[in-house]
Amino acid sequence: MPEYKGAIKSKLPKAGTTIFSIMSGLANEVGAINLSQGFPNFEVSPELIKLINKYMKEGFNQYAPMQGVLKLRERIAEKMEVLYSANYNPEKEITITAGGTQALYTAITAVIREGDEVIVFEPAYDSYVPSILLSGGIPIHVHLQAPDFRINWNEVKKLINQRTRMIIINTPQNPTGSILTAKDMQQLEKITDGNDIILLSDEVYEHIIYDGYEHQSVARYPKLAERSFIVYSFGKTYHATGWKMGYCLAPEKLMNEFRKVHQFQVFSVNTPLQYALAEYMKDAKHYAGLTAFYQQKRDYFLKLIAGSKFKPLSCSGSYFQLLDYSKISNEKDTDYAIRLTRQAGVAAIPISVFYNVPVDNKVLRFCFAKENATLEQAAEKLLAVK
Ligand code: PMP
Repeated sequence: MPEYKGAIKSKLPKAGTTIFSIMSGLANEVGAINLSQGFPNFEVSPELIKLINKYMKEGFNQYAPMQGVLKLRERIAEKMEVLYSANYNPEKEITITAGGTQALYTAITAVIREGDEVIVFEPAYDSYVPSILLSGGIPIHVHLQAPDFRINWNEVKKLINQRTRMIIINTPQNPTGSILTAKDMQQLEKITDGNDIILLSDEVYEHIIYDGYEHQSVARYPKLAERSFIVYSFGKTYHATGWKMGYCLAPEKLMNEFRKVHQFQVFSVNTPLQYALAEYMKDAKHYAGLTAFYQQKRDYFLKLIAGSKFKPLSCSGSYFQLLDYSKISNEKDTDYAIRLTRQAGVAAIPISVFYNVPVDNKVLRFCFAKENATLEQAAEKLLAVK
């Protein structure tokens, strides 16, 4: 290709190749076990695959309605009622999206204008800040401190001013595995009371929560729900991250704005998958068993690495476990992650990359959504690290 001669003023000058591509690429290159990127390596339910096939064969292969297939939105509304006692109108308050990431981007684009401030807790899932910046918004970074990464709501309260338009929360949280409690939600209610701040609640790990904790959806709290976009991902819930299917819920007035953006961004998403998911969701056991399934995985991984020099941090949700390596090395987490991949043969993600200005806690993030055999191989390698 001849080179483009015009000037380009990048809209995201800081964005480069993501750490996920870098670590996965390195894991492939050196043949390491890849616990870096967050995706399961076990199979999607054959029943669900069969259903998708059925709907494809039956001819459900053209554009779905812009908001999503109504049957699927109805199943989602029922689920919200059962789990969180929340009433969402499937016609007006639920939209099916191309994954959680699109829902996040669409919600931000729908309401954030030039100069609006958006409070983001760091370390943060990496799509939030670029999405804010592309809308001309100003991310206001709030640091969560290791080892427990709890939110100091007094600190948040001090940051709120006339320009604050949105607060993004994520529970269970990626990358830290921390969760918000009922007390956190009450604090959030207090600090948003009387202003018109919008909440964007990223709840893609709603079912992946341990040790008897209950997921605190904003949907459980009417005063929060009335100002919230809530984002979920079928990819996380049905072990199919590659399908990029998710959904967003919000009160009608917010959802109207969301849909105005959604219709020009993607218009609608994968039709046969939506019909298949609608049928599959009729049986609640398909998601109800997920907590126990992942608790067993998390506990197994921790048992396997007990006695290693890595110190597990207390993580109560998501399919990530943080391990502190400060007894092994003083290196920067980005350097250590690369050395661990090359020398020990296990790839993980350094936490510092999830900050605007890197904070090095000497902690790496390991994804344990893997077959037991993969976890066993990885643990053997981690135990050998001295
Ligand atoms: N939010 C968080 C916190 C995530 O970890 C992810 C996936 N890594 C998403 C949103 C996006 O989900 P999806 O793959 O459905 O776009």
